[in-house]
Amino acid sequence: MTVQAQEIVRAHLAGTGEQPELTEDQRSLYRQRIKQRLQERDAVLVAHYYTDPEIQALAEETGGCVADSLEMARFGRDHPASTLIVEGVRFMGETAKILSPEKRVFMPTLEATCSLDIGCPEDDFAAFCDQHPDRTVVVYANTSAAVKARADWVVTSSIAVELIEHLDQRGEKILWAPDKHLGSYVRDKTGADVLCWDGACIVHEEFKAQGLLDLKAAHPGAAVLVHPESPASVVEIADVVGSTSQLIKAATEMGNDTFIVATDKGIFYKMQQLAPNKTFVEAPTGGSGAQCRSCAHCPWMAMNGLENTLAVLEDDNGRGQEIFVDPTLAEQAMKPLDRMLDFGARLKG
Ligand code: SF4
Repeated sequence: MTVQAQEIVRAHLAGTGEQPELTEDQRSLYRQRIKQRLQERDAVLVAHYYTDPEIQALAEETGGCVADSLEMARFGRDHPASTLIVEGVRFMGETAKILSPEKRVFMPTLEATCSLDIGCPEDDFAAFCDQHPDRTVVVYANTSAAVKARADWVVTSSIAVELIEHLDQRGEKILWAPDKHLGSYVRDKTGADVLCWDGACIVHEEFKAQGLLDLKAAHPGAAVLVHPESPASVVEIADVVGSTSQLIKAATEMGNDTFIVATDKGIFYKMQQLAPNKTFVEAPTGGSGAQCRSCAHCPWMAMNGLENTLAVLEDDNGRGQEIFVDPTLAEQAMKPLDRMLDFGARLKG
């Protein structure tokens, strides 16, 4: 990440407040009231695996979804509710609005962003593309609507390898943004000509190879599950490398009793739910030894809480946390997003 982008990320992080501590009685009241207001507002919760377990549980109980960003996009587009409450980060809300312009899309807070999005400003990215007009532009979903509008394809980690393989077979050279670790990973997996933007996820970049090796030695029967936004030295140690959905699938299908998991710890909610008899251990971050306690939780995902979710639902007319996307940009961004959804559906089908 450039020095300028690092400074912007630091400034954003300084503004991320912790959710207020609520008593159990307050939580119960909030949950009841949110359920009631979702019905009254014809609204549905669309939550990411990295949000807090309480938010994921509420989304499931109320007929919403808990998913990766590809599934969230699909669910939001296809669900009949007229209002979407996106529990995640800003680019997810924007994607939902682009795919469903007729729906109202809200987020508990518009301050919830992503270091990959921040680290890929529209103008700098446009200049980078202009320098390489012979390359097919593929951007990760974790980008602004303006960056998506400049792309030929949008992609999520769940279909990144397959898409780059497909483009490589057509003889295309790739310009990839913004995550350099995922870009390097797909380049290594496919052998394609991939030129990467210098961006990184502040959560995954903190996983440390030596600490992971030490932890693996302490749990000899454990399988190591790693998200490809992690550095190559960490990816190399993995038994399985994959998107959030792919890691959850591995946790449920593999025979191991214990898993060391290198991605945001919000994912433990779904893993434990689907594999209640297995043990999940956080991969170490930022420390040098196996005893280092991980702090792998995205500060922006953590901004989605019961209190701000209810505040959005209580405010019938307020537009404070509503997502709007410039219609011209939305039209341009819709094309690479549609390609992503079609490609993903073909892979599934
Ligand atoms: S975990 Fe990383 S990639 Fe995901 S939203 Fe947070 S900063 Fe962005």
